[in-house]
Amino acid sequence: MDANYHYDAIIIGAGPAGITAGIYLSRARMKTLLVNEGTIGGQLVLTHEIANYPGVESISGYQLANIMKKQAKSFGCEIKGNVSVMNIELSGDIKMVTLSDGTVSTSNVLILSPGGRSRTLGVAGEDNFKGKGISYCATCDGDFFSDKEIVVVGGGNSALEEAVSLTKYATKVTIVHQFDYFQAFENAIEEARNNPKIHFIMDSKITGFYGNENLESVDLKNLKSGETNNFRTDGTFIFIGYLPNTEFLKDKVDLNKWGEIIVKNDMSTNIEGVYAAGDSIAKRYRQVTTAVSDGTIAALTASGYLNELKVKQKQLITL
Ligand SMILES: Cc1cc2nc3c(=O)[nH]c(=O)nc-3n(C[C@H](O)[C@H](O)[C@H](O)COP(=O)(O)OP(=O)(O)OC[C@H]3O[C@@H](n4cnc5c(N)ncnc54)[C@H](O)[C@@H]3O)c2cc1C
Repeated sequence: MDANYHYDAIIIGAGPAGITAGIYLSRARMKTLLVNEGTIGGQLVLTHEIANYPGVESISGYQLANIMKKQAKSFGCEIKGNVSVMNIELSGDIKMVTLSDGTVSTSNVLILSPGGRSRTLGVAGEDNFKGKGISYCATCDGDFFSDKEIVVVGGGNSALEEAVSLTKYATKVTIVHQFDYFQAFENAIEEARNNPKIHFIMDSKITGFYGNENLESVDLKNLKSGETNNFRTDGTFIFIGYLPNTEFLKDKVDLNKWGEIIVKNDMSTNIEGVYAAGDSIAKRYRQVTTAVSDGTIAALTASGYLNELKVKQKQLITL
């Protein structure tokens, strides 16, 4: 194996979690490679405005991602964008990563931070109005819908809890759900039902999104009668599930039934030398701040492991 391709640490996924891990590891003088499938920054670059990242009153996600990237590079972190992971070998002491650019790299430590994506409805107009009236995150975007009338799609705990939280901003929240019952805890259902700002349209689904610059209305189809009508709305929040980008990790590392990576508090996985961070791990809150926090913990735990490894290797040489 070409020694140029051996690293102390390889990080898979350059969203806020992976870049933060890159900053910490490189600054600790660990030879670090950060690889990413798409644009460096992950979901951050899809975010029009970040207004809840401490210390920065308002910034576009793209700008924040570029600052993070520059910071990681300034400490010597090697960053490769637009490459996919073709294969990973985690079983031995040395981890091996094969990339779509044909390179095979090895490392003592691997950090998994591939993030995730919200489930989408996959109906006409959804892609056009993402960030222009369609959102998948109430914490991120609720504030932009103050004094507006909005729709929430979904019937699980997230949909009901987020609908209640959105009533802090919106004057009216209409929950649209495909069944005539909810798949949520009784207290979440009760809280939503008791909120005077929340209205319900059951047995229905959205079949299209319409507007000019921003979203203005949706088509609603009643699944029992088959009737469709156009419904005016300023915004639509979709909470129909979340998908971690962990398909490539199946049978490699312990995942839960939702495909989320199982980690301990120090971000270690079930495989020695393999850590995980960010939206792809099993956790409740998925934000830039939580991703950055996980990335920090993963990098510090990994640094401790690498330092111990270096001490052991020195002892072996002097024996
Ligand atoms: C539209 C939108 C708005 C948001 N607004 C806010 C907000 O205002 N405030 C806030 O705090 N949070 C917001 N979030 C959430 C926030 O962006 C995420 O919580 C955060 O980006 C998660 O960081 P991460 O590093 O775990 O993963 P991600 O940001 O998802 O990054 C993961 C990266 O890994 C790459 N990857 C995946 N699989 C592989 C692979 N096999 N090989 C190589 N690379 C791979 C992906 O392409 C991606 O670049 C928003 C999210 C969205 C979608």
